[in-house]
Amino acid sequence: GQCITHCPVGALRERDDTEKVWEAIADQKKIVVAQVAPAVRAAWGEELEMEPEDATVGKIMDSLKRMGVDYVFDTAFSADLTIMEEAGEFISRFTNGELKSRPMFTSCCPGWVRFVKSQYPHLVRQLSTAKSPQQMFGAVMKTYFAEKIGVSPDDIYTVSVMPCVAKKGEREKELFYGEYAGHDIDAVITTRELVKMIRSAHICPDTLQDIESDRPMQSGSGAGLIFGVTGGVMEAALRTAYHTLTGENPHADIFKPVRSKGFDANSGVQEADFTINGTTLRIAAVSGLGNTRNLLERMQRGEVQYDFVEVMACPGGCVGGGGQPIHDGEELAHERGKKLYGLDSDAEVRFSHENEDIAVIYEEFFDKPLSHRAHMLLHTEH
Ligand code: SF4
Repeated sequence: GQCITHCPVGALRERDDTEKVWEAIADQKKIVVAQVAPAVRAAWGEELEMEPEDATVGKIMDSLKRMGVDYVFDTAFSADLTIMEEAGEFISRFTNGELKSRPMFTSCCPGWVRFVKSQYPHLVRQLSTAKSPQQMFGAVMKTYFAEKIGVSPDDIYTVSVMPCVAKKGEREKELFYGEYAGHDIDAVITTRELVKMIRSAHICPDTLQDIESDRPMQSGSGAGLIFGVTGGVMEAALRTAYHTLTGENPHADIFKPVRSKGFDANSGVQEADFTINGTTLRIAAVSGLGNTRNLLERMQRGEVQYDFVEVMACPGGCVGGGGQPIHDGEELAHERGKKLYGLDSDAEVRFSHENEDIAVIYEEFFDKPLSHRAHMLLHTEH
């Protein structure tokens, strides 16, 4: 109940990073490049009293540009990139027998990564090495994109708009590329801080227009969008893993059993088995750290066995993140999740591997998932 809109990862003293972003915008030497996470679009309008259907991501992009941000991108793009890397990693670890009696865990939630490091350190090596979409996008902005626009990575200031307070800690990770030694991400603002910036810039929400994100990292698939809701990373990864294993796409909705039925219906865990090409994959998606602890204990007692497990620290996933608008006593995560599922089912492209801009970035820069350069820029040691 009441914890849904509060950060479960202990980040109660909230750091305000809006000043840092205003300073970067004012700095003539900096090119400010922003990304907006999927879950933000499902909640930002609540505090501005906008109707849910009016509070589109295109208007967030417009607001950022009007505040002086130079380039705006949708984290759905790098969520697709994460899926390409993580699905590739899963299939390779699965087929070489590494996952025989222990699953691979997702690693895109810093609240979960911090929890596993402190409470279950022996499980750390089972985390996927793929960076989160936030970090991957930062790395891409400072390398591929910097080269595209002909500037050095030092001139790029990367900002991410996230539903999450723990993402502020995740950004401390380092990035090395050629001469450059710095960070993937320079500043993280929460959905609440975004709203604060819109207000202090005196932007009237009624005047915002739908604008597209910039090129060349423009498109994001429906699979990338559902990263913001519990079970979504798993569903997106399975859509692509299925394609890799069989050479064809499944119906985009066949992995629906990993979706949460709502908070009262279960204990925050969704489990399912899927047989693909004669191989059975046992998967689970869990949200909330209490539910996660219960699941890990059951796994350690040998009561359940999985090949791949998605964990999100916030109940309901990022839609219920600690950086989202707070409404006392309201359980909005499920409603916000439905908004993301709606965007996915309306999306023209619903598979990460069919995102054309993803195909281009592999062709021009990364070569293929898990390539040497992908390892350097898109993966991390935990
Ligand atoms: Fe952040 Fe999402 Fe993890 Fe919550 S579930 S801590 S919002 S990444």
